[in-house]
Amino acid sequence: MTDVVNTISGESTEHNGKPVGPTGQTRSGMTADALRAAVSDHLLYSIARPPAVLTPEHYYRALSLAVRDRMQKRWMATTQDFLDLSSKVTCYLSAEFLMGPQLGNNLLNLGIEAEARQAMADLGQDLDVILDCEGEPGLGNGGLGRLAACYLDSLATLERPAIGYGIRYEFGIFKQEIQDGWQVEKTDNWLVRGNPWEIDKPDAAYTVNWGGHTETYEDVTGKFRVRWLPQRVLKGVSYDTPVQGYGVNTCNTLTLWSARAVESFALDAFNTGDFYKAVDEEVVSETVSKVLYPNDEPEAGKRLRLLQQYFFVTCSLQDILNIHLLRAHLPLSALPDKWAIQLNDTHPSIAVAELMRLLIDEHQLGWDEAWDLTVRTFGYTNHTLLPEALETWPLRIFGEALPRHLELIYEINDRFLAEVRAKFPDDEDRIRRMSLIGEDGGKTVRMAHLATVGSHAVNGVAALHSELLKASVLKDFYGMWPERFGNVTNGVTPRRFLALSNPGLRELLDDTIGTGWMTDLERLHGLEAFVDDPAFRQRWRDVKRANKSRLAEYVHTATGIELDPTWMFDVQVKRIHEYKRQHLMVLHIITLYHRLKNDPTLTIPPRVFIFGGKAAPGYFMAKRIIKLINAVGETVNADPQVNRFMRVVFLPNFNVKNAHLVYPAANLSEQISTAGKEASGTGNMKFMINGALTIGTLDGANVEIRQEAGAENFFLFGLTEGQVEKVKAEGYRPVDYIDADPELAAVLELIARGDFTHGDTEVLRPIVDNFVHHDSFLALADYRSYINCQDEVSKVWLDGEAWTRMSIRNTARSGKFSSDRAIAEYCDEIWGVGPMSVDLD
Ligand SMILES: *Cc1c(COP(=O)(O)O)cnc(C)c1O
Repeated sequence: MTDVVNTISGESTEHNGKPVGPTGQTRSGMTADALRAAVSDHLLYSIARPPAVLTPEHYYRALSLAVRDRMQKRWMATTQDFLDLSSKVTCYLSAEFLMGPQLGNNLLNLGIEAEARQAMADLGQDLDVILDCEGEPGLGNGGLGRLAACYLDSLATLERPAIGYGIRYEFGIFKQEIQDGWQVEKTDNWLVRGNPWEIDKPDAAYTVNWGGHTETYEDVTGKFRVRWLPQRVLKGVSYDTPVQGYGVNTCNTLTLWSARAVESFALDAFNTGDFYKAVDEEVVSETVSKVLYPNDEPEAGKRLRLLQQYFFVTCSLQDILNIHLLRAHLPLSALPDKWAIQLNDTHPSIAVAELMRLLIDEHQLGWDEAWDLTVRTFGYTNHTLLPEALETWPLRIFGEALPRHLELIYEINDRFLAEVRAKFPDDEDRIRRMSLIGEDGGKTVRMAHLATVGSHAVNGVAALHSELLKASVLKDFYGMWPERFGNVTNGVTPRRFLALSNPGLRELLDDTIGTGWMTDLERLHGLEAFVDDPAFRQRWRDVKRANKSRLAEYVHTATGIELDPTWMFDVQVKRIHEYKRQHLMVLHIITLYHRLKNDPTLTIPPRVFIFGGKAAPGYFMAKRIIKLINAVGETVNADPQVNRFMRVVFLPNFNVKNAHLVYPAANLSEQISTAGKEASGTGNMKFMINGALTIGTLDGANVEIRQEAGAENFFLFGLTEGQVEKVKAEGYRPVDYIDADPELAAVLELIARGDFTHGDTEVLRPIVDNFVHHDSFLALADYRSYINCQDEVSKVWLDGEAWTRMSIRNTARSGKFSSDRAIAEYCDEIWGVGPMSVDLD
């Protein structure tokens, strides 16, 4: 190593006595030495703390900055490529991105985990402690936001140019605490300690109008035009985060918009001395990106939510048009050839009207051309069939907020309904059903209809869901345009949900079938050859056991509850919702409790029941279900007669970070939603990949999981979607099921008489009443089938070797559920986006 001295900085190529190569390497070198030098540099220059006060948190930030530096050249090379628009770019519009911790994932994708571990060890630090310092940007509610994050990982890994567009909420999903068994919501102040991954681009800002009215005018060529005179104006500034692909140069961008006042002070107000009104303006503007709305909330905050959606959509579309016109100098007619814009559920569906507004009002295109470009550019992914979750806006609120968009939607609707009338004459009922404007119970704008009419492709997220979509909520649209409808079954990234979160299994897989599974998950099939190898099965069990010990330790710290890692870990983690039926799993727990109490000689295979998930703060019944779980848990865990066989845990604040510990530790995955209600699920896939067996209904992607795993490796119970509809149509009476099943009656009686609530019969009364009088999601109709199936689960569990074989087969056959497969399908069938390898020179 020659002792070159950088003539500008005077920096030596030696660092703590070790050579690090040319100084530029401090920013980009991938060796442990270069990383160590980079972290030292960042501690000095970016963190600016003397060695005596350094904490692991400081090392976390310094290492993160050093890792971000290592993505920078790849990021800029990728960005340059898509600014040129030499190939088509996917834009994934999503109100939520649940990204999870970034450091470990970036180390993995850059291939420098061992180097980072060594570098930190050289600095006297433990990489695991450093990794644990990272919080997570909770910019999503659950599955939908996490799907968007998995898709970004796969897009980059498959070298597809892509931009994720969303909102930089200042406060993400609330932090959940459990007090006295109840959920308590705490603010998620995720930015308080800074975010080393994002780069703010104050110069990349777009104007966002709001409210006011429209007027017509004649332009210079004598054409009739419309202009929007808004009541309020704010702006969106972008914060960009790199999304590094695994083992490739491609490093895509996640752009999140943050709201700002246009001017810091409204000068006229300031000049007249009303200082506080001026500041108020700023405060109001910035509330737009202040907080993520929990889903499943009734009504609240409607207007601001619409503003949030419009806010991020217009910023994103303006950014796209800016790149298209000003950077790439392309004509608008080329828009659908260069951009595929995907609407992740209806949250961004105002984009259909907004693109029309931009093309017609701002860029002077005629209606027909603008509409043709719009439809060819957008695709729409539907995520739910639940009627209460299909977004609609009261017409009055919509019209006051977005007067120009309402005009455009009326025009879109008129032309669309004329098309419907031409195809289906004399069918005014159909017209009413399909209209973009709903007339039932006050006029509304139907966002799912707008998204469907404005997109060339509409997809559901699992085979069953896509079929139900065509048969139910979008039936008439399927009749109109069958060619638009397709299915893309969801997937999850094997980088985060296997390699990163299950290092033990990763090592076993690498040893057994090589490392190719990381980017070609179908290679897991190679495991089938080892199912009959006892030594391999032992290693398989050892990995699972270690993961269970790791989770047990976390549970103990978080809840004080002690778990035995030899017991079956039976897990349900997901948002708390009646359709997901956490309360059905509780009925099983109480059934076992009841059996043990009634027969002191009874023994059952010991199980730990683990729950995790947040309830929307305004969702009364979901919050009671959390109380129910904790009440039953307290009783069970404290009773020496039953706690030899069962424990119940509610893991607080389920999020991506602790999900890393949960999925790999599960033996049994609970996927027990009412058939027809869960669009796909992705938690079910994360469990399967990590070797859990599923107990589930024929719902969402469970259907395909069972198909892939083989019926003999899946515990099936419950009514099918068709049977659910039939039972409901015939007038479902939960009491009939109670009367017919003494065990069920006894279980409900235990809750009702206060056995889990110290004799209090009020706390859980709403749950009992709901079971008896409503039970909208048919938990009681599926109870007996579920209990019998669980008895079968226990029987199989007793044969450890048989269970292990089934576990291995589940992982081996989980290849379909990689988000790489899903993204390849989107690219081929909907977006027409091919791979583009990024050259670093
Ligand atoms: C995967 C995931 C979900 C989705 O779980 P489902 O079981 O599909 O509802 C929700 N939250 C987090 C943190 C996840 O990682």
